[in-house]
Amino acid sequence: MCEVCQRVILRKGFRSPQDYLDCLSYLQELIDSGDFELESGTCDLDKVKGPDGCWMDDMIGHVIRCRSCRQAFTCSACTYRGGGSFRKGR
Ligand SMILES: [Zn+2]
Repeated sequence: MCEVCQRVILRKGFRSPQDYLDCLSYLQELIDSGDFELESGTCDLDKVKGPDGCWMDDMIGHVIRCRSCRQAFTCSACTYRGGGSFRKGR
């Protein structure tokens, strides 16, 4: 973990669907800052909901990685049951 990674705000859970969307915006900010890159994802960060307003999948996950130390962080959510987190690692 480098200095950049230590500033990342992790989430133990999401209080609401909006809370999850806010976290995805945060991921996008981290990527836009140039410090992180998107390693993988079940869909594009801005396409977790389809044109019909429904979630793309029951399980949605994105992995970002620090460009400095290669530390990975995973943001995942179960849109069917609810729940999810933004945590360190894959
Ligand atoms: Zn780092």
